[in-house]
Amino acid sequence: MLTNKELFEQAKLCIPGGVNSPVRSFNSVGGTPFFTARAEGSSLFDIEGKEYIDYVCSWGANIVGHANKTVIARVTEALANGFSYGTPTELEVVFAKKICELVPSIDKFRLVSSGTEAVMSAIRLARGYTRRNYIIKFNGCYHGHSDSLLIKAGSGLQTFGNPSSSGVPEEAVRHTLVLEYNDTEQLVEAFRVYPEAIAAVVIEPFAGNMNLVRPTSEFIQQLRELCTKNGTVLVFDEVMTGFRVALGGAQQLLGIKPDLTTVGKVIGGGMPLAGFGGKAEIMDCLAPIGGVYQAGTLSGNPVAVTAGLAVLDLIQQQDFYLRLANSASLLMDGLKKIANEEGISLSVDSVGGMFGFYFSDRVPQSFAEVKEGNQELFNRFFHLMLDRGVFFAPSMYEAGFISAVHDSRVIDKTLAIARDVFKILYTQTV
Ligand SMILES: *Cc1c(COP(=O)(O)O)cnc(C)c1O
Repeated sequence: MLTNKELFEQAKLCIPGGVNSPVRSFNSVGGTPFFTARAEGSSLFDIEGKEYIDYVCSWGANIVGHANKTVIARVTEALANGFSYGTPTELEVVFAKKICELVPSIDKFRLVSSGTEAVMSAIRLARGYTRRNYIIKFNGCYHGHSDSLLIKAGSGLQTFGNPSSSGVPEEAVRHTLVLEYNDTEQLVEAFRVYPEAIAAVVIEPFAGNMNLVRPTSEFIQQLRELCTKNGTVLVFDEVMTGFRVALGGAQQLLGIKPDLTTVGKVIGGGMPLAGFGGKAEIMDCLAPIGGVYQAGTLSGNPVAVTAGLAVLDLIQQQDFYLRLANSASLLMDGLKKIANEEGISLSVDSVGGMFGFYFSDRVPQSFAEVKEGNQELFNRFFHLMLDRGVFFAPSMYEAGFISAVHDSRVIDKTLAIARDVFKILYTQTV
């Protein structure tokens, strides 16, 4: 039997960095990642047979518990009908109807295979619809790895940012403006400097890719008003928050209707499935009826759509999100209380089945404030918890996730382990 260390060495010889997505390599916290052999309920099991309580949940995709029996049964049935046809299917129509019904701002919906594709397509659509080029994104938000969105903040409004990845030409981000999350003044100023030039503003309505950061109500309301006034398409990137924070997504909780919405993660229940939708007038600009081209060989894959439909059925059960939100706050309130009792400064937040904890004495409102958190303390906490069988996201810039099967027994166990860990952290700190 291979150990995680041995397999990581082998992996690095044939896969760049040993992983197929960078954050999995533990590059931010150090050490060797574990290789998952299987998952069940609220747990992952690695190739050495060690069990971990899983608070990453496939980065939010898993909301009904790993290897859910209902989902498995329906996917198994679908498999027998073949994996992909390259023709339309009834399943896709059922799925789109359901999404339109659950998210009132979505009149029409199109499926793709990843969140990256969904946001990339939504941006192209917004540009095609408005016949404008400029877009605004916010510092600390992640919208997948398409060229125009891989950008670091520049200094000030007049200078545009720089690509945050090599291989992205400066020209590709020349029309992307990066602003600070929750900075209403800067937003107002941006629309003043670029009147009638901004095609879209894309935002994570609750940010989850710089840890969890909420918008202030003033900021998000101003954003909606400014977009409406300027004829700019407001894109809520709900790839993470969609069907994660509430059945109707972040837009339901915030009471704000975007023009376009992107979804992913939860809607595929772990299968490669994502999509984007919104106002019919905008969506009808897509090929084959409109001039904005967008396509995909595996888009609307019948197996993935079946998994998605099964998940959508499960999350519509009575009080599903109420119970999820209660579990998340039970975990976060408990963690904060224990940390403080053990002399460690920690603040926490949660929305639906998504949570954040910060080694800092206040809940951050921007990327700059997230950065003020104690990175060294987080990294030690991460490894001490991991050693004891609890898997939190391997970076202090990621939100955490729970599923419907993370019950009070699982949470109590987590908190008991956390108490031991905070004791150790305190002893090491003083
Ligand atoms: C995960 C994520 C994406 C990218 O989705 P992929 O499926 O990884 O391409 C885009 N936007 C947000 C908000 C995300 O959390």
